[in-house]
Amino acid sequence: MTGSASRPVVEDTIRGLRARLDEARAGGQRVGLVPTMGFLHAGHRSLIERARSENDLVVASIFVNPLQFSPGEDFDDYPRDLDHDLAVCAWAGAGIVFAPGRHEMYPGPVVTTVRLGTLADVLCGASRPGHFDGVATVVAKLFSIVGECSAYFGEKDFQQLTIVRRMARDLSLPVRVVGCPTVREPDGLALSSRNAYLSEAERVQAPVLRRALEAGAALVEAGETDGAAVEARMAAVIGSASLARIDYAAAVDPATLTRGQQPLQGDVRLLVAARFGKARLIDNLGCRAG
Ligand code: AMP
Repeated sequence: MTGSASRPVVEDTIRGLRARLDEARAGGQRVGLVPTMGFLHAGHRSLIERARSENDLVVASIFVNPLQFSPGEDFDDYPRDLDHDLAVCAWAGAGIVFAPGRHEMYPGPVVTTVRLGTLADVLCGASRPGHFDGVATVVAKLFSIVGECSAYFGEKDFQQLTIVRRMARDLSLPVRVVGCPTVREPDGLALSSRNAYLSEAERVQAPVLRRALEAGAALVEAGETDGAAVEARMAAVIGSASLARIDYAAAVDPATLTRGQQPLQGDVRLLVAARFGKARLIDNLGCRAG
């Protein structure tokens, strides 16, 4: 990647990062935070660019958080490429990259964690028990380390965005949580670091997730108010892809992430998840019923 932007400062200690940010805020600068697990793509870049457009100084964090992976998940294999990530951060306008080692974030056994309520039990939380507690714990730590800021999260991980927003409110954290639109490949596949796991044949079929969401949204917008019918339609579209193993297809209230009252009414969020080989992919789309 080429670009004229200057390389960001790389900080790997909490103390060093806090000192820089305290100084920036004392000088009147607004701070933006973009938490990531690295292996950055154009989706991450869009978050950094949005943060840059609304703040004077942007911190991108890169940390593959062990707490949000269950035993047997892809923590060890998760793709990593710090040099490439630094180039993306420079290009997108991050001033600081916070890339702590595991010991810096978790110096000893983790005793105190964030425990989430029902928002974390459904959808991805049902097949990844403890995942969102791990996400919320590391995000709470990042919010505590960075302090007053605006923090940018992708709508691509809609359940995560909903949970983080709620946590910031429930714990009175001094952070404005901003949701940003999903960046996609030209064929509709949402960008994800995990797309790197897809074989050629799986990559060809993976846009079926987006097509399922579009089929569900078209049904809702044509007047279908039976959530189960919308979910069945999305599941059928995913089922048409021979390499997809569906996890869920859901039509939910965007605030509670539950099916709520039938019939569907007002804003509806459609969410899908499926495995293609080793890759577990998710996607979602908003629509309006009634
Ligand atoms: P990750 O590195 O996968 O943990 O993602 C870090 C942040 O980037 C999260 O807020 C994600 O929701 C966001 N993100 C990931 N993929 C996309 C995408 N395709 N478009 C927009 N944001 C994304």
